[in-house]
Amino acid sequence: MLIVGEVWTFDGGRPRAGAVYLEGGRVVDVGEAEELRTRYPGARRFSFERVTPGLHDAHVHPLYWGEALAALDLRDERDPRRVAAAVRAEAARRPRGSWIRGGGYVFDAYPDRALLDEAAPDHPVFLESRDLHSAWVNAAALAAAGVDARTPDPPGGRVLRRADGEPTGYLLEHAAALVRRALPSPTADDLRRGLDDLARRGYVAAHAMGDLPPEATEWVRRMAVDGALPLRLAWALPKRVWRSWRPEKIGEQLHVFGVKFFADGALTSRTAWMKAPYPEGGRGMPLDDPRAHDEEVAAVLEAGFEAVWHAIGTRAVHELLNLSDRLEARGLPARTRLRIEHAQHVDDADLPRLAGRTLSMQPWHAHDDRTALEALGGEPWRTAYRWADFARLPGVRLLFGSDAPVAVPDAVAGLHAATRHPLGRAGLAEEAALAAYVRTPAVALGWHEEEAFWGRIAPGARAALTLWERGEPVARVWNGAVESVQRT
Ligand SMILES: [Zn+2]
Repeated sequence: MLIVGEVWTFDGGRPRAGAVYLEGGRVVDVGEAEELRTRYPGARRFSFERVTPGLHDAHVHPLYWGEALAALDLRDERDPRRVAAAVRAEAARRPRGSWIRGGGYVFDAYPDRALLDEAAPDHPVFLESRDLHSAWVNAAALAAAGVDARTPDPPGGRVLRRADGEPTGYLLEHAAALVRRALPSPTADDLRRGLDDLARRGYVAAHAMGDLPPEATEWVRRMAVDGALPLRLAWALPKRVWRSWRPEKIGEQLHVFGVKFFADGALTSRTAWMKAPYPEGGRGMPLDDPRAHDEEVAAVLEAGFEAVWHAIGTRAVHELLNLSDRLEARGLPARTRLRIEHAQHVDDADLPRLAGRTLSMQPWHAHDDRTALEALGGEPWRTAYRWADFARLPGVRLLFGSDAPVAVPDAVAGLHAATRHPLGRAGLAEEAALAAYVRTPAVALGWHEEEAFWGRIAPGARAALTLWERGEPVARVWNGAVESVQRT
């Protein structure tokens, strides 16, 4: 097939072309439209405004995204009564006793469960706030989870209570887990739903980040063996199971490439590990403390995996770089194979230390965090979301993604935030931002050196492409076919 349009090749010698000719799942020829029309007169022709290598989402939780898609979408809903009305409508559609889940609301106060008890007396209801740090549940959910007036607050959590000690149904931080653990476990269908949605949005690849339960890796492996994955999946294993796996590629379906660690928590919950204290005190906290992980990370690297580290706060990034330096001193390839996820806050002293590293960021988070960062000011504000600074460092591989379900996996929103920085600081040029979605994610995984290479449009490349109109993905080329994007 012949695709005519402005081809952004990300191929050094020839950055732009007018058409690309594909055959047998490969790019065969790249050139000017007239030239290729003459050379391939019988080819099926398509025309799009722009053609690029295929989109990656370089940080996503496909299993949790699939669960979120099956739940009530309460995004940015601010009125508890409207949320209760949505729950009432959902209850009418579902069998009694089945769980109603939802998320995305932002309330100014903590509502009582009375509204939910009235809306859904016969269904347990579990709703999560947009920041995922609190939950609103009804009496049926509390009963199903065995939470009542006698249940103590768990460490790091609070069960809000009425005057008589009965739970109000509002649960803060770790208290939400008291009810969450009564929910049905995610299934392979949830994973499938999440992956299908990404493919429908025009992605050809996703980097999945350590999703639990442990069986998820088995599910995805089975799908890959059956050739049933709707896009190419790079998979980071959850830390607690990595020792029973090894790095593996199953065709161009699945690449088990990494092991996921968490250096710290998140900014809005004040668990991001910072160098300076927060206005209300505390500096956050380490989770997988980089000061105590030399041996495990060495074993991960020696097994041929990448060490994929969530690091949000300035101190977390700092300690992670120290860990990397210690491993480099032992002759391990930590600079190139220790990948930093989020790199959300980096202070000036650590900035030059990021040269030559893989940094995986989510531009839309800067939009979601803007109000919180403006309120915090100080170190969190000054050090946040410095992708334009990172891009100037030598040898940095900048990758962009969504972190769905934390944000919707919308590459257009991400590109917009990357180029017009939500915090008013310097953004990236359009081509550099796009590279972080279509080129560097393939390079970071070594797919640019495969026989049918990814991340660049030139003869011999895998025909995994995204097709654009007016700045939006409208179709992708996958498995030798043009598939339309369907926004859900
Ligand atoms: Zn994540």
